[in-house]
Formats: sequence, C-alpha cells, structure tokens
Amino acid sequence: MPSNKINKKKIKKSGPKGKQILSPKGMHDVLPEEAQARDKLYKVAKDVLEFYGFGKIETPIVENAELFSRTVGESTDIVEKEMYAVRSRGKEHLVMRPEMTASVVRSYLEHGLHRLPQPQFLYYIGPAFRHENPQAGRYRQFWQIGAEVLGGESDPIYDAQIIIAFSRLLGELKLKNLIVGINSIGGTADRQNYKKKLLEHYRLHNKEICKDCMRRMKTNPLRLLDCKSRSCQNIIDEAPSVLDHLSSPSKAHFKSVLEFLDEAGIPYVLKPRLVRGLDYYNKTVFEIFTEDDEKGELSLVGGGRYDYLAEILGRRSVAGVGAAMGVERVLEAAKERDPSFGTPRSKKRVYLIHIGDLAKRKSISLLEEFREAHLPIIGNLGKTSLSNQLEAADKAGATLALILGQKEVFEEDIIIRDMKTGAQETIPLKKAVKEIKKRLK
Ligand code: ATP
Ligand code: MG
Repeated sequence: MPSNKINKKKIKKSGPKGKQILSPKGMHDVLPEEAQARDKLYKVAKDVLEFYGFGKIETPIVENAELFSRTVGESTDIVEKEMYAVRSRGKEHLVMRPEMTASVVRSYLEHGLHRLPQPQFLYYIGPAFRHENPQAGRYRQFWQIGAEVLGGESDPIYDAQIIIAFSRLLGELKLKNLIVGINSIGGTADRQNYKKKLLEHYRLHNKEICKDCMRRMKTNPLRLLDCKSRSCQNIIDEAPSVLDHLSSPSKAHFKSVLEFLDEAGIPYVLKPRLVRGLDYYNKTVFEIFTEDDEKGELSLVGGGRYDYLAEILGRRSVAGVGAAMGVERVLEAAKERDPSFGTPRSKKRVYLIHIGDLAKRKSISLLEEFREAHLPIIGNLGKTSLSNQLEAADKAGATLALILGQKEVFEEDIIIRDMKTGAQETIPLKKAVKEIKKRLK
C-alpha cells in the first residue's frame, strides 16, 4: 500500500539555487494569444452544440479509479498504464480523469437524470489526463469537447446526430476535407463470435506478431486491430471483418446510421478494422479525420455507442452514444488552415493616457465611467511618462487616445488625440464618454 505521506526529501529544493521549475512533461501553459484561439473554439462549440439541444455539464477532474477501470476497461492502455493516481489524505483511490464519458454517465445516474424527459443531451468542455508518450498532437493534459445522448431508445438517429453535430462543428471552423471513418462492432454476442474468428486468424500468425499483441490475444483480442506496430499491419489487413459477423439487429442499426448520414450529406468511409481504444463501445464506432491525416493516427474526434456502460455502473440499462473532440488537435488543424485563427479583427480602440498624480487619481473614476457605459478603453495607470504611454497606445493598435494632464484636471477638460494623424482637440471632461461613443461608431 503506498503511503499517503508526501516525502518531503523527494521534493527537490527550488529557488535561486535550485533547478528552474518547468511545467510537467506533456502539459502546457496556455498564453493569452493561444487562449483567444481556444475561447473562439469554445464559443463555436457552445453555439453549435446548444443549437442541437445539448446542455452543458461539468464533472470533477478527479474521480474514483474504479469508474474508469470498470468502464473504459482493465486491459486497455488507458487503465493499464496511462492513468494518473492522486495522492490524498483520505482512503479513496482517486485518479485524474482520462476521459469524460464515464463521468457524465456516473453523474446522470447519481442525479437521477433518467427521471427527466429522455434522452438527455449533454455536452462538456474540460481537460483530460493520460500518461502517454508526448509528441505532436499527443499530450498528457489535453482538452476535450464532448457530447453524449443518454437514455431513451438505442436509436440509430442519435448516432447520426452526434456525427452530424461534430461534422458541423468542424465545418464551422472551416476545416475542409473531413472524413468520417465508421464501423460497427455489434453487440456482445456478435463480438464473442467475432473474437473467436479473430483469434483463429492470429493463431496462424502468432510467430510474427509483436509482444503487445501476444498479450492482447489473451486479455483483449479486439484491441489486436488497434495495434500500431509495423509488424502487425499485414496481419490486421488480412484479419476477418467484424462487419461479416453482425447479427441482423446490429446490421439494421448500422445500415440506418449510414442512411441518416447519406440523408445529411455527410461523407464517410467504412473502416472495418476500427475498434477504438475503450472497452465500453457497442454497435457504432467512428472517428473524424482531415483527409491529410487519413493515414496518420491523429483523429480529431472519436466516439461511438455504449449501451452497456450505465449497467456496469449503476444496475440500470441506459442507451448511450457520444463523441469527444481533441481541442489541441483541432486548434492545430484550424491554425494550419488559417494562421490568424482566433485573433480578433482589429477593433477601434481607445487608450487613456494620464500625466501626473492628480490625473492618475482622476483616471480611476473616468475608467469606471467608461466601463459603466460599456465602452472599451485600455490604459496602464502604472506607467508615468507621456512618451511611454503613447508608445503603448500605438502598440495596442489604439485609434484614439484620451490625454489627461494636470492642467486638464484643473480645467475639467480632456484631450482627444487621433493616433494616426496626431491631431488633438480639447473637450470638456464630462463630455468624454458621449464623444467617444460617437467616434467609435
Ligand atoms: P488516439 O487514437 O489518437 O490515441 P483515442 O482513441 O485515444 O485517440 P479518444 O479517447 O477517443 O482518443 O479521445 C477523443 C479525442 O481526444 C481524440 O480524437 C483526440 O482528438 C483527442 N485525444 C486523445 N488523446 C489525446 C492526447 N493524448 N493528446 C491530445 N489529444 C488527444
Ligand atoms: Mg489514445
């Protein structure tokens, strides 16, 4: 049993003599420019998902480990080697969430959302944590925007609606050449039959496969198809197709999903080897890529149906389907297409310049007047010299400056300066808000 006491000796000394402390490997700071791009993405996501009827849900970043070992699956990479355990003073075994679907279903059951009209449409935005090997597009803390349809019938229309909503979302970000890769892994019985066939195929090749796949044959045969090792690719290509092993109801469900996508004009490709990294899926599984990355491994969105997940958690059967989108990957794709993604179009801006202590004091109430009138005005009351402030106004792209000096404060005036031409005009201080309102129009 690991002790909950934090070993102080192990925390290296920092400070002037210690090593510089950096952010943890694979986890990144978001600086203001990047934050603007993210905010834009969140806004588009909120608009699109709320349009499709999803309501926002927030769940804790930390959950009981069992939530994921029971749902995502004991023998998945995520649970086997990628979860961050949280040391706390209590006895609970807590982890940083590696994904949010299980959390949303837990919350749905915990708060009796099944008593509300069904299905419930829920969406979330937040960070997830996986101890993976960091590389481009793969981080240890990454953000996901996800949406889930929970309850009601296991109706293929909801599978299609999830795919349509995320396609629309990526479309609104002007991402082109999107491909939906889609497959069905059927129900529990279909998969049992298929696993047998798959293992027969792998037994014929058990001398050629990688070590991980040797293990997967015993622990999680479906995941054999997910192997990224080169030596296994031919064996995957020649493996029997799960689509040939679907029962009639699973087949009918899948056919309907595809028909709905046809109706919505969403292009897709069948990917009979797509199984996805989590254990809880049944029937439909899908990923969305950009065409440039179809061969690559960096999907923008991943999702599927999970009609058995709630039962594993709460002895209540709840149909479910959903998807999650990787914020960093989508932002990278959006920036590749348009490097200025998220930088606001240049707005008319006003910069307040003060000279002297009296003007500084007066500026505080003047700023409040502008705030009250919802007029954007910037400035830096910490700066002192005029030239410094003029330079800052220029850098900030201000079109107008308001200059308040000692003389102006005494005479209850203020100067308006056109930053482009340098032309200046003195007006009564109490008319400043009205005048700026006029000029910003
Ligand atoms: P991959 O096959 O790329 O490992 P996954 O199947 O593990 O993805 P999901 O669990 O379905 O991914 O998560 C949904 C989305 O979250 C992915 O499509 C991707 O955009 C993003 N994502 C997953 N893992 C990471 C990560 N480590 N870093 C950044 N984004 C990620
Ligand atoms: Mg993964």
